[in-house]
Amino acid sequence: MTDPVQTVTNWARNITYTAKEFHRPHSLDALRALVAGSARVRVLGSGHSFNRIADPGPAGVLVSIAELPSAIEVDTAARTVRVAGGVRYAELARAVHAHGLALPNMASLPHISVAGSVATGTHGSGVANGSLAAPVREVELVLADGSTRTLARGDAGFEGAVTSLGALGVVTALTLELEPAYRVEQTVYVELPLEGLDFTAVSGAAYSVSLFTDWREPGFRQVWVKRRTDRPAVDFHWAAPATEAMHPVPGMPGRNCTEQFGVPGPWHERLPHFRAEFTPSSGDELQSEYLLPRSTALDALHAVDGIRRTVAPVLQTCEVRTIAADPQWLSPAHGRDSVALHFTWTDDTAAVLPVVRELEAALEPFDPRPHWGKVYTAPAELLRGRYPRLDDFRSLVRTLDPGGKFANPFVQDVLGV
Ligand SMILES: Cc1cc2nc3c(=O)[nH]c(=O)nc-3n(C[C@H](O)[C@H](O)[C@H](O)COP(=O)(O)OP(=O)(O)OC[C@H]3O[C@@H](n4cnc5c(N)ncnc54)[C@H](O)[C@@H]3O)c2cc1C
Repeated sequence: MTDPVQTVTNWARNITYTAKEFHRPHSLDALRALVAGSARVRVLGSGHSFNRIADPGPAGVLVSIAELPSAIEVDTAARTVRVAGGVRYAELARAVHAHGLALPNMASLPHISVAGSVATGTHGSGVANGSLAAPVREVELVLADGSTRTLARGDAGFEGAVTSLGALGVVTALTLELEPAYRVEQTVYVELPLEGLDFTAVSGAAYSVSLFTDWREPGFRQVWVKRRTDRPAVDFHWAAPATEAMHPVPGMPGRNCTEQFGVPGPWHERLPHFRAEFTPSSGDELQSEYLLPRSTALDALHAVDGIRRTVAPVLQTCEVRTIAADPQWLSPAHGRDSVALHFTWTDDTAAVLPVVRELEAALEPFDPRPHWGKVYTAPAELLRGRYPRLDDFRSLVRTLDPGGKFANPFVQDVLGV
């Protein structure tokens, strides 16, 4: 199916894709023929990125694989699932849970596609939890000539193939490792001061911990604490429990969020902040996020506090999470246990961009790596120095996509080609 591309925007509607055509093939063969017959291709996942990472440019074609058969094949003996790249986490989580199995972690909302999420290094929170790329064991690709290739953990180049920015080919399926299903209880605490914060203790107090603030005052308005019921509980004595259902954005209804007040429930109904059955409308927001070495968390938070009067007027909410180091060459958490400082801005690009620049200047001493799917202004030449395996990734791109069919201006900028 071909749609006029002028109508295709991302979820936040701050990006209109400039491709000459938009295709939604219904079969793998149709996809392979389309790729082989096109000069430049980029895949659009669920469109939850906030920049031009998915845009092929005016000479290219944009492809959605959401209409391909939606495979979710659970192997209970091997504890793995093979999932089509266009499937969203909500559907995947329900399917694996029905087999008594679980993913190790989820992002804040379950409406994002699996292939698009791992391509950008998307993550949830938890000091010992890697990004969503961590459980990926195999990646199935359609390459530039329409042929297929599977890269498995242990194969040369696998560390470049998951968080790949879509630069290697079309990811048609992934195989993920699973674990036995577990239960999680979520409690939101309110008013945690920045002064005297023991970040290591607070962020490590449960399986997944997120701190939220609007930076109108120093300190955190909310702390979301997600405990696994099969792990020992730490007494969270640093702040008081909330007395009503909370939403990370002040003033928004708590009923759109996952169950709170310590009511135990299945992992996939607690790890995301937002309910799967709540369909977010096109969002009136922009997002930025920076991953820094976790050891710098407190200094970085004080640096943001130092400019909070600049940040607060265009901010809806700021979330602080932790991510374990991972080996993916282009992962923002590559090789370092990380703290992530996330900013949900208002949807006013002109007002937000100068603040993003000031924020990046304040965070610069901490070697920040921006989330690939969000708004940032740091020049690519600066970021290249933050990815010690970038040369390996360049070689992988040359091997799998020698003609640069899956390149776009965003990726060329990152790679410096
Ligand atoms: C409301 C909201 C909440 C979010 N929460 C989080 C969060 O909790 N944690 C976090 O880290 N991020 C979060 N994000 C960011 C989001 O997870 C990323 O932008 C992610 O890439 C979205 O996946 P997508 O399928 O929408 O990707 P898209 O934006 O559609 O694409 C992203 C990249 O992946 C590539 N791609 C997509 N599918 C394929 C494929 N099949 N084959 C090859 N390449 C492909 C695209 O070409 C592009 O380069 C959030 C975004 C929104 C809007």
